[in-house]
Amino acid sequence: MSAIPSRSQGAQRLLNKNVTALIPDFPFHYARYLWQAAILKKPLAQVAAQHLGEQVLIVGAGVSGLVAAYEAMRMGLHPIVVEASGRIGGRLYSHVLGDRNDPQGRVICELGAMRFPKSGKALMHYFAKVGMSANSADFPNPGSPAAPSTLVDYENEQTYYERNDLPQKYRRIEDMFFGEFLEQDPIRFTDMENAMQETAVDQGEIKAIWNTILRAGWDDLSFYAAMVEQAKWSREDIDLFGQIGFGTGGWNTDYPNCFLEVLRVLYTGLDTNHTLMYDGSSELPLRLWSRTPASFGDTQVHWPAGTTVESLTRREIADPLNQEVRQIHRLADGTFDVYLHDNK
Ligand SMILES: Cc1cc2nc3c(=O)[nH]c(=O)nc-3n(C[C@H](O)[C@H](O)[C@H](O)COP(=O)(O)OP(=O)(O)OC[C@H]3O[C@@H](n4cnc5c(N)ncnc54)[C@H](O)[C@@H]3O)c2cc1C
Repeated sequence: MSAIPSRSQGAQRLLNKNVTALIPDFPFHYARYLWQAAILKKPLAQVAAQHLGEQVLIVGAGVSGLVAAYEAMRMGLHPIVVEASGRIGGRLYSHVLGDRNDPQGRVICELGAMRFPKSGKALMHYFAKVGMSANSADFPNPGSPAAPSTLVDYENEQTYYERNDLPQKYRRIEDMFFGEFLEQDPIRFTDMENAMQETAVDQGEIKAIWNTILRAGWDDLSFYAAMVEQAKWSREDIDLFGQIGFGTGGWNTDYPNCFLEVLRVLYTGLDTNHTLMYDGSSELPLRLWSRTPASFGDTQVHWPAGTTVESLTRREIADPLNQEVRQIHRLADGTFDVYLHDNK
């Protein structure tokens, strides 16, 4: 876990601007699409009457699969979820020690995702829908206001600091990265951040900045190459930055990756201002699987009250876990044959 926050100065600015994670190469405000449907109290799309009840195969019971299945059910389609492993959740995996039903006597161990950026508003929409946001808190990333104190042990030297009161040697790195390197042409960090503000989303500006970066050839650079060739940082600074990191992790594991992947994360604010879900992250797919739309205050068409993704799935496959999709064939009449392998 990293100790240097990416935004000891910029995190609050990001919150004030209410930045939304619109990915730069496809700046579609998906969360707004979700909010509008919620305001209208309608499913996300309308299915023609002759297609109501048609089966839709959902491969994988991770959060993507369960969101897709849940929304398909609300539209009046018949989702059938199959999952290769023995549980619901995929890379959301909250392992519970102790009594699951006793909030005081249990410990939740997040074995997959554990911190969720506030700028990821589509995901936040679903956490709120299933009632998990009410039981959440700011994630105590080291050096964030939610972490009372941080002790860094780097190259046999220990550095202690409280909240986001960074020692000068770390603040210098943050300033070099955010204040200087990311502000240069064509990266223009603040301009991109401004174009992603909730109240002033500027898709043209997002695309213009991104296209300039592509035309300048930055997609051919690894993160490491960008720090050496473009930022011209010293070996010591690159090592410190990589080992101790900024925000969510020691970023040296990302040094071999394309610099644009790192930029996407930074522009969209995914590296900071995280939320911790006290119910355990895999409660999200579990609730979408087993609860009714009415229990979330949602409407649905076609299906009777009491219908869940689980009940529709089990109508077709009694035990959809440990079922791995190995092949899918489209037949002449447009239907599909699906070959499942039983992993039990
Ligand atoms: C250790 C770890 C830490 C992470 N930390 C964070 C974090 O802090 N914050 C964050 O936002 N993200 C984090 N992530 C990433 C996040 O967990 C994933 O992006 C997210 O859970 C992916 O969800 P998904 O539904 O798209 O895919 P998955 O969760 O991978 O779901 C895919 C499902 O499909 C199943 N499947 C695959 N092939 C088949 C098949 N042929 N037949 C049937 N089933 C199949 C798989 O078994 C799996 O259950 C982390 C990931 C890991 C592993």
